[in-house]
Amino acid sequence: MLHHLNNAPYGSGIRGRFAPSPSGCMHIGNALAALLAWLQIRSRDGVFVLRMEDIDTARCRPEFARQIIDDLRWLGLDWDEGPDVGGPCGPYVQSERLQLYEDALNRLQAGGRLYSCYCSRHDILAAAAAPHGLASEGPVYPGTCRSLSPEEAHRRSMTKSPSLRFAVPTGEISFTDGVAGHRRSSASAGGDFIVRRADGIFSYQLAVVVDDALMGITDVLRGADLLDSTPRQLMLFEALGWKLPRYAHVPLLMGPDGRRLAKRHGGITLAELREAGVTPQTINGWLAWAAGLLPEPVQVSPQELLLLFELGRISRKDIIVTSDMLGLLHPSLKQ
Ligand code: GLU
Ligand code: ZN
Repeated sequence: MLHHLNNAPYGSGIRGRFAPSPSGCMHIGNALAALLAWLQIRSRDGVFVLRMEDIDTARCRPEFARQIIDDLRWLGLDWDEGPDVGGPCGPYVQSERLQLYEDALNRLQAGGRLYSCYCSRHDILAAAAAPHGLASEGPVYPGTCRSLSPEEAHRRSMTKSPSLRFAVPTGEISFTDGVAGHRRSSASAGGDFIVRRADGIFSYQLAVVVDDALMGITDVLRGADLLDSTPRQLMLFEALGWKLPRYAHVPLLMGPDGRRLAKRHGGITLAELREAGVTPQTINGWLAWAAGLLPEPVQVSPQELLLLFELGRISRKDIIVTSDMLGLLHPSLKQ
């Protein structure tokens, strides 16, 4: 029958992912992004992918990757493709995908989109016209090495191995974020950014674009800390001739001090909560309530949230987690 011919191999053709960096234990802020990404995809009958972003090998450890997988399963989340279950777009661990990053880099290089940069961090700080760059990535690179003469580049390469930078085009980048709404910035706002560090490590920006493209990701949902990385990723997608995913950046959990919730705020890793006897249902309900999906922090499973999920209901503002709110997770967290 005709309609069978149109059946995509997987449900709706929607593909999303959760892409943690195994550089520490999962805390409730990471759990919020994971839960919302899962809900977005599962509520539309899509395929959910788990990818370990361990490209920065010095900061990542396999024990954390195992712990993250345990924590996600404990919360009640599941995935169709991932490091532990395999799938058609593997490997699902960045440190096993280096050849793919190299290939993409070579294509960018061949297209004249990259150049070698010999600047040290200190040079950049000293030369940076603007005192601040993208919140996520230090000062704006002023483009010093973009126009080095071949002789000069050769001379500098005798004493220093270069990083590789993507030469950002002129013009504007705009996109519509599923939570943050319409975004528009000049392509050069963040400066020419690194795609491979001087020590040979591929940058997050490059690796994430290669992976999202080759894993066929249609919908990226992640924390708002990465909102200002998105224009860079869009530029890489375009330079590599790949189809752009849709993006949704969800609010971060912030401590009462106005800083991003982190270990220093204490007692907020899933391992600690689990140890203290907090149930996954309590955590899921609390997260859904904090994000604006539930009017009260009742106990629920991720499944029970599926019908409630709508991107439009997620709060646009960062979520300040007070000690009273933490007390609803576990009395011992209320100071
Ligand atoms: N690996 C990144 C992180 O843990 C997330 C990357 C992404 O979602 O694009 O912060
Ligand atoms: Zn430079």
